[in-house]
Amino acid sequence: MSKDDKTDQVIVLGAGIGGLTLALSLHQAGIACRVYEAVAELKPLGVGINLLPHATRELSELGLLPALDAVGVRTREAVFFNSHGQLVFREAAGTDAGYDWPQYSIHRGDLHAVLLNAVRERLGPESVVCGHRSTGVDQDETGVTARFAAPDGTALPSMRAALAVGCDGIHSVLRKQLYPNEGAPRYSGVNMWRGTAKHRPFLSGASMVRAGWLDQGKMVIYPIRNDVDADGNQLVNWVAEIHAPQPALQDWSRPGRLEDFMPAFENWHFDWLDVPALIRSSDAILEYPMVDQDPLPKWTHGRLTLLGDAAHPMVPRGSNGAGQAIIDARFLAGALHKLGVGTEALEAYDRVRVKATTEVVLTNRSNPPDTILREVFQRSGGQRFERLEDIVSTGELQAISDNYKRVAGYDPAALKARPSYL
Ligand SMILES: Cc1cc2nc3c(=O)[nH]c(=O)nc-3n(C[C@H](O)[C@H](O)[C@H](O)COP(=O)(O)OP(=O)(O)OC[C@H]3O[C@@H](n4cnc5c(N)ncnc54)[C@H](O)[C@@H]3O)c2cc1C
Repeated sequence: MSKDDKTDQVIVLGAGIGGLTLALSLHQAGIACRVYEAVAELKPLGVGINLLPHATRELSELGLLPALDAVGVRTREAVFFNSHGQLVFREAAGTDAGYDWPQYSIHRGDLHAVLLNAVRERLGPESVVCGHRSTGVDQDETGVTARFAAPDGTALPSMRAALAVGCDGIHSVLRKQLYPNEGAPRYSGVNMWRGTAKHRPFLSGASMVRAGWLDQGKMVIYPIRNDVDADGNQLVNWVAEIHAPQPALQDWSRPGRLEDFMPAFENWHFDWLDVPALIRSSDAILEYPMVDQDPLPKWTHGRLTLLGDAAHPMVPRGSNGAGQAIIDARFLAGALHKLGVGTEALEAYDRVRVKATTEVVLTNRSNPPDTILREVFQRSGGQRFERLEDIVSTGELQAISDNYKRVAGYDPAALKARPSYL
């Protein structure tokens, strides 16, 4: 049984971005839940994340925009350059592009803290139970029994509820229980090095830059905190990505080495940014392989289901990892609200969200927004161009961006017309 008098209806496994959004959404729907997290203490980990308008709409419906505005940067434009610093494509983003909801560039730790504070405030301090690593969930006709272990491996008392949702990230234990023969995450052939550095505002002061291409080295650069010192500097997030035969180890906190990727970017001194100087001034560098998994045919198995990275890990090439986890959470809470806390709602969630995210996972592999850079790289042979219009039309590049918006669920007209999930 649960820890207090009120029986939890839903057990949420994992207090990451998806699990915490689910807890807030279930609470909004009047459904009692508790979140069980493996680590003994939740800390603000990671580096930058982008939240696109389809995700911020959901956070706005949870009343979180003021808290996000206090920590993140409202992104104003997406800008693409080749590795010579020549402008390839530019389009407005978030409210500047006419959406009703902003796009945020934000530190994952800040986003996580906004969600965690809201959960503790609204659901109470006991609603997130740390030091509880899920080791498996059994189900019977009336409910689920979730088993846990402490950080030292000691077995902890089991908990019971009507349903359990695995929000336990890319190495999900519940996913392994449901699909025991699935292999390790699939390496995309690209390693990433990530870091943050203090820097004066560049371009619009709220630009998301993608530059170069993976064969020679690609970068994603954007500010994630404003006014971090008295000189008006920002905290700028950068990610360097290069094709590599061997994957780096999968550990979100593994330090990276400058010499492994810096040669690819040593000449990137642009009039809008000195990239090597930015990288060298970073506090710490992290290394991580770009991985995903083949889409699953089904997440819901009776009273159990999956959400976020546990359900659909994707390569981070479309700013949709956190966003799709947030949308899963809102859709699932909406289904449970409308259909009742039972298997019918989990099946409804499965029917819609498996299909939608399968398309995102596959498009992130083949045709994400950075395909814009691939097209220009391939047609120019990676060389400087005289006139961009001689190799590609703006309309063609716009079509790549627009196609991704449609697939991921943030086509402006469709997003505006869509009823709320909850
Ligand atoms: C430490 C960390 C740093 C990250 N840094 C970045 C980053 O810099 N950039 C980026 O784009 N993405 C990062 N991510 C991934 C990003 O948060 C997710 O891709 C995305 O937000 C989807 O969220 P999620 O809730 O599905 O998964 P996550 O945010 O990964 O959350 C999963 C949660 O489940 C917990 N957990 C794992 N196993 C168990 C278990 N057996 N029982 C209970 N709890 C468990 C984890 O500790 C974690 O809190 C990071 C994830 C983590 C955990």
